[in-house]
Amino acid sequence: MEVILVIFLFAFGACVGSFLNVVIWRLPRGESIVFPGSHCPSCGRAIAWYDNIPLLSWIVLRARCRHCKAPISPRYLLVEAVTAVIVCGMFVWFYIIQLRSGAGDIRETWPMFLAHAVLFCGLLACSLIDIESWLIPLEVCWLASLVGLICAGASPPPERFLAAVSPTAGAMALAALVGLGVAMLLVHYGFVQRSFLDADDRPVVEPTAKPKGKAGKGKGKKARKDKKSAKPAKAQAPIRSVAFGKEHGVSPRREILREVLFLAPAIGLAVAAGLMVTMVPPVREAWLGLTDPAQNAWAPHLTAVLAAMFGYLIGGLWIWAFRIFGTLGFGREAMGLGDVHILAAVGAVCGWVVPSIAFFLAAFLALAWAMTVFLTRKQRELPYGPWLAAGAFVTVLFYDYLIELLNPYTEVLSMLSGG
Ligand SMILES: [Zn+2]
Repeated sequence: MEVILVIFLFAFGACVGSFLNVVIWRLPRGESIVFPGSHCPSCGRAIAWYDNIPLLSWIVLRARCRHCKAPISPRYLLVEAVTAVIVCGMFVWFYIIQLRSGAGDIRETWPMFLAHAVLFCGLLACSLIDIESWLIPLEVCWLASLVGLICAGASPPPERFLAAVSPTAGAMALAALVGLGVAMLLVHYGFVQRSFLDADDRPVVEPTAKPKGKAGKGKGKKARKDKKSAKPAKAQAPIRSVAFGKEHGVSPRREILREVLFLAPAIGLAVAAGLMVTMVPPVREAWLGLTDPAQNAWAPHLTAVLAAMFGYLIGGLWIWAFRIFGTLGFGREAMGLGDVHILAAVGAVCGWVVPSIAFFLAAFLALAWAMTVFLTRKQRELPYGPWLAAGAFVTVLFYDYLIELLNPYTEVLSMLSGG
């Protein structure tokens, strides 16, 4: 039975990888990921279903288009293979060799497994898009976050699988999310300005060659308009994960204060909710009753969703806090907003502990890479998104080991979060 499931998940993962190839190619180019069907980017002819079988077709066709013989990038094969290995490997890791306590039985925790699979397939796509075009498709992060919240609520996982939080922390998370919603409405109606607005759509390369001042601003706005008219269906352009400095015609310190303003309602409401739940007895009793399984049958579902919400916020907060303090300190945009969404999605699926470890692990991995680059003198700058994704994946796989290793430190954090 398990063998059949492993083979099925491998084949299913390859199919997901095939879809990810479409996402990786089309999302940064602003094309629809549904229509039209697959076609050869070289001759434009539609690809028949028998030439579109994951893994196999690439090998059968010997990496060439059937019609025009144009070479097909090995990336297609690689993404399909890696996705298949991620999906079926995670299943083997969690449920067969059981290297992750808390995963338990697949029949009970399959929603969490599904959420993890969606998260890491999504992060693979995000990473490759980020490496190729320095963009992070926020839709992918949002989708993973939403799946994380829904799966946690649908079937509350064990505490080892989704880090639990105290009722107070849960209330603060809920209030903070409401605050973020309020802030987004304020931005939508123009009460709060978006940060780094003028720099948004400027080319990343050769910033010094770009005209500064008014001419540059006009150009940036025009480019934005063109982009909008080209794809009106898109609500928001992906966010660049590249550092902006004064040479881009923006003042990073002033821009980052706009983001602090954006976060103000969330912080304010979270503090208010925290105070209400701890200080006002009727509110406290009502909230504790709502989150107590003995008094409310739905309490486990509610607390699991609150834990996912708390994870979403903590994940995002690590990057955003670093971004705000780094930008204020160095006068240069530190970390991209896309990175905030990546780690937030990790938190929404895995709870608050995984992104907290992944944040430091990613920095460590990136630093190790930077040293190798420095030693081999191969100048190749990399965006930060893939490091966060890799850090999160390693953290999820070696969670038990890392928790044991970090036990003295996590106990302090657990006390702070009340978890
Ligand atoms: Zn072709």
